[in-house]
Amino acid sequence: MSDIKVVTRFAPSPTGFMHVGGVRTALYAWLLARKNQGTFILRIEDTDKEREVEGSIEHIKESLKWLGLNWDDFCIQSERLDIYKKYADRLLEKGFAYSDGGALRFKIIEKKRTQWHDLVWGDLSAGEEALEDFILIKSDGYPTYNFAHIVDDIEMGVTHVVRGQEFISSTPKFLSVYEALGITPPFFVTTPPILGEKGTKKLSKRDGAKDILDYKKEGYLPETMINYLAFLGFNPGGEREVYTPEELIKVFDLSKIQRSGAKWSDDKLNWMNKEHMKLLPLKEIEKNIFEFLSEDMRNPKLVPIIFERISKWGEVKDMVERGELDFFFNLPSVPKEKLVYKNSTPEKTTSNLKLAVQALQNIDEDNFTAENVKSALMLIAETLPKRGELLHPVRYALSGLDNSPDPFIIAYILGKNETLSRLQKAF
Ligand code: GLU
Repeated sequence: MSDIKVVTRFAPSPTGFMHVGGVRTALYAWLLARKNQGTFILRIEDTDKEREVEGSIEHIKESLKWLGLNWDDFCIQSERLDIYKKYADRLLEKGFAYSDGGALRFKIIEKKRTQWHDLVWGDLSAGEEALEDFILIKSDGYPTYNFAHIVDDIEMGVTHVVRGQEFISSTPKFLSVYEALGITPPFFVTTPPILGEKGTKKLSKRDGAKDILDYKKEGYLPETMINYLAFLGFNPGGEREVYTPEELIKVFDLSKIQRSGAKWSDDKLNWMNKEHMKLLPLKEIEKNIFEFLSEDMRNPKLVPIIFERISKWGEVKDMVERGELDFFFNLPSVPKEKLVYKNSTPEKTTSNLKLAVQALQNIDEDNFTAENVKSALMLIAETLPKRGELLHPVRYALSGLDNSPDPFIIAYILGKNETLSRLQKAF
């Protein structure tokens, strides 16, 4: 591919929703252009005015920007009507078009079998029934998709048409337009379908297919979406699965796009998001977590324990809503009977807690780290028949929860004074 300048395009219709399938098409076109130092065009195909949804163009741009899929050129088809007209006139002159009820139709001169090559699907063919006259320009003056996209791909020098498989059945018609115009068609790159979690049918809204910006709202990273969507139907080979966008550009290879459908998996997406979150600098992690915390909750010491429990930023909000962080800020209620570990007794529990207080008093405030708290408490716990006889009441006294983060970390976060005060209040 080194002797040609690669030009690709993403050509969405402004009909609302930016589905993950559309995003993956855009991504492959973008990767192909970037890999080859080519050009990536964003073209808005708005010639079907009835289907247009207000605000879609902004929505598409915002989605691509969030993902980092930057475009080099941008155009809107409805602003290019004179260009389609010029091409239509050319077909009319050559006898490949005729007027019909206010519209202009393409005339199939020879019904024949069509054969073509797709860079993903290989050699394809269709019988003559795939060819019939079709509308080029509608009676409202707007071109059809079937015509406009060909004119634009020619005018813009598009070398690779990357799009979904729903366009394969119309490809014979597209090829007859190229032939009538005497122009060599571009390479076709047909992406595989994205299947729902069960793997039986195409991912649909019912399976939870969402607008790409919903993933943003939920707190997924854009680099996760790029990585995840790239791998739905593509694999560079090997075991590795976590790639940054820059690394993906390097390994992207058309010959490694699969033809068979790729299954969506939320679990996989969440796993991958966590992997990308781990690649971020601590400050960035803190910033993202703090966004979901009210100002008075923004304690940097909380960051590691929150981070451990989430696979996307939005889950911080869930933790707050479930009250899982409340005990850090408010004294928990600690019913006495809940302090007692399994077969232990209230007396033993009280004496163990007293021992804990004594041990912790000996650590000075500056050294009140999770490690030091742990060493001090473990020294006592190891002398008891069961460690839980000390660790359970400590955990409970500090958090009011049976299942909470590590009690040593809680003590560190609360600090020496608050830790001692909670332990003392408990007996
Ligand atoms: N406007 C078409 C769509 O949104 C684009 C198809 C193509 O890429 O040629 O499906």
